[in-house]
Amino acid sequence: MIVVLKPGLTDGEIQNVIKRIEGFGLRAHVSVGKERTIIGAIGDERILVDQTLESFPGVEQVLPILKPYKLVGREFQKEDSHIHVDGHIIGGNRVHVMAGPCSVETREQVLEAAVPVKEAGATFLRGGAFKPRTSPYSFQGLGEEGLEYLAHARKVTGLPVITEVLDPRDLEAVYRYTDILQIGARNMQNFKLLTEVGKLGKPVMLKRGMSATIQEFLLSAEYIAAEGNRKIILCERGIRTYETETRNTLDLSAVPVLKRLSHLPVFVDPSHGTGKWDLVAPMALAGVAAGADGLLIEVHPHPEVALSDGPQSLKPAKFAALMRTLRAVAAAVGREL
Ligand code: PEP
Ligand code: MN
Repeated sequence: MIVVLKPGLTDGEIQNVIKRIEGFGLRAHVSVGKERTIIGAIGDERILVDQTLESFPGVEQVLPILKPYKLVGREFQKEDSHIHVDGHIIGGNRVHVMAGPCSVETREQVLEAAVPVKEAGATFLRGGAFKPRTSPYSFQGLGEEGLEYLAHARKVTGLPVITEVLDPRDLEAVYRYTDILQIGARNMQNFKLLTEVGKLGKPVMLKRGMSATIQEFLLSAEYIAAEGNRKIILCERGIRTYETETRNTLDLSAVPVLKRLSHLPVFVDPSHGTGKWDLVAPMALAGVAAGADGLLIEVHPHPEVALSDGPQSLKPAKFAALMRTLRAVAAAVGREL
């Protein structure tokens, strides 16, 4: 980082700043200019993220050079990460679609979604057994019973499964059933949960918190990577803005930004991103056009009676029609689907 000093410091004051920098294990390279003296602090400056030098006497400004995250950044790894799951490669040329109901409700309901999404070309089955609901009075999910229904649908269709884990205490059960662990928007900064999934070898989809900046999002991914698990998929699912016509504002620019800053695969969730089924297809197409490596889409056989997120769920026929158009968009941007 570059440390810009205030004008008119004495040699002793400059020495104090140097000592402070060296105290962090960094080397200080002093450059005395006509108007200003600046110090280049050489070494891994990330340890200083929370201990800014800016409040130190004599320091005017600190300009970081490195990003505060390391393992998930492009500075650390230039090539795109490829995540291997059950014979599929996520983050490669193929765009993957993970589809299924918001919540697992019954054995039949999961199958009624899983069979047609598989036929339409989805490569993963999604479904929540542990549901993070805004109201404590809303349906909270079937828990382990739901995981069993997902396992049954996996057996029938051959589709690998992605499901959310809310609490480190459920991790063991969810781990046994799922192929990809999902961490939802509301838990993006549940650092304990991030640390626990980081200790496991299973791929994790991390959804962006509804009020999280991209830097905060990547720092949460860093928590997982720092524990040793590098199989992380990032998912943009809409952020909270002043707009009320949609449930969230889907930040599609996050896709190329994340792809530039990080080597991890990036998905788009147009279902939670819009909250309205008729907006899902246009935003799914736009997500792929923007460079997404995959999509997470809610599909329900009977959205009108869904126990959660019916208004944003596609019926299987609409999903199949979307998949046909998606193939054309994927081809137009040099991807397969
Ligand atoms: C979900 O995928 O069902 C979900 C709850 O999403 P989010 O965490 O993005 O709200
Ligand atoms: Mn949902």
